[in-house]
Amino acid sequence: MQATEPTTKDLVQQKWNKRPLIIAGPCSAETEEQVMQTATGIAQTGKVDILRAGIWKPRTRPGSFEGIGTKGLPWLQQARKVSGLPVAIEVATAKQVEDALHFDVDVLWIGARTTVNPFSVQEVADALKGADVPVLIKNPINPDLELWIGAMERVAKAGIKQIGLIHRGFSSYGNTEYRNAPMWHLAIEMKRRFPDTMLINDPSHICGRRDILLDVAQQAINLDFDGLIIETHIDPDNAWSDAKQQVTPERLAQMLETIIWRKEETSEELNAALEKLRQQINHLDDELMQIIGQRMKIAEKIGQYKKENNITILQTNRWNEILERAYQRGDKLGLSQEFITKYFDAVHMESINRQNKIMNS
Ligand code: PEP
Ligand code: MN
Repeated sequence: MQATEPTTKDLVQQKWNKRPLIIAGPCSAETEEQVMQTATGIAQTGKVDILRAGIWKPRTRPGSFEGIGTKGLPWLQQARKVSGLPVAIEVATAKQVEDALHFDVDVLWIGARTTVNPFSVQEVADALKGADVPVLIKNPINPDLELWIGAMERVAKAGIKQIGLIHRGFSSYGNTEYRNAPMWHLAIEMKRRFPDTMLINDPSHICGRRDILLDVAQQAINLDFDGLIIETHIDPDNAWSDAKQQVTPERLAQMLETIIWRKEETSEELNAALEKLRQQINHLDDELMQIIGQRMKIAEKIGQYKKENNITILQTNRWNEILERAYQRGDKLGLSQEFITKYFDAVHMESINRQNKIMNS
């Protein structure tokens, strides 16, 4: 038998299995020239595995650029030829899936605004039946792991074998440092529940700006993410969507050069050193829990006293006093106000719940 030439499917398979997996490309395909130039620049970095470009853009408000549409799909075929990279786009409806498959798009992704809606995810999943194409699923815009998992299950039920996850952060009201708060603990929880599923990070949509992109990307790699998807544009400032967060192919290459790629496995020697420190952590965690247990017992005694004397559980002055004390002490110990607030909120709520039980008994 003659050896067969590797097919595009083989290439996609090979890229899909590569770690770290790097996806880059413009937020949106705008013009044929922009797609070609960006693809060429990205290929020249020699560090990117898959080319991304949005063809249909779900925009929060009407009036902004909503994507070039089906007309842009032949540009991507051309970009694949020129760059040698498989191409990925976002799909949100059955028609978009059909068009994408018709134009041989190599990888599809489901966007954050679609993952929130089971009707839409099901429509996409139904259209995917019988297709042999990898699918990446972005986290929903709201911090709800069940929706993210539900989308994964719907796509898996449609027979898609290669499924990956993209962590792109979660939207919240009010301006924060991030466009979408990373809430790393949710990504970590997904990793814990689905250790064998690829999880890549999208620092572009988390940051919404260029200056902190590298920090977030590094943090993801520190947390053992499988790769990155980074919006890259030949002329970021004049991009038709997400201008503030896109970088040039040159900057992308620099970033990928700067990131310290970490591995999960370590040597026996390192493991022994880590093991020692982990023992200390376990020991301290045990002690902490003992102490918190004792604290709750005292809170229950207070609850009993409040019940007998008909006093409310919540005493705002006392709560303020606890927090103030904690901030001052925490500051000396190098504990951030954000952490102290979260920690004391949790402890305080547990005390209140216990006191409530006593009051109602
Ligand atoms: C995008 O990748 O350009 C996009 C629209 O992202 P998200 O779905 O994460 O908002
Ligand atoms: Mn974008």
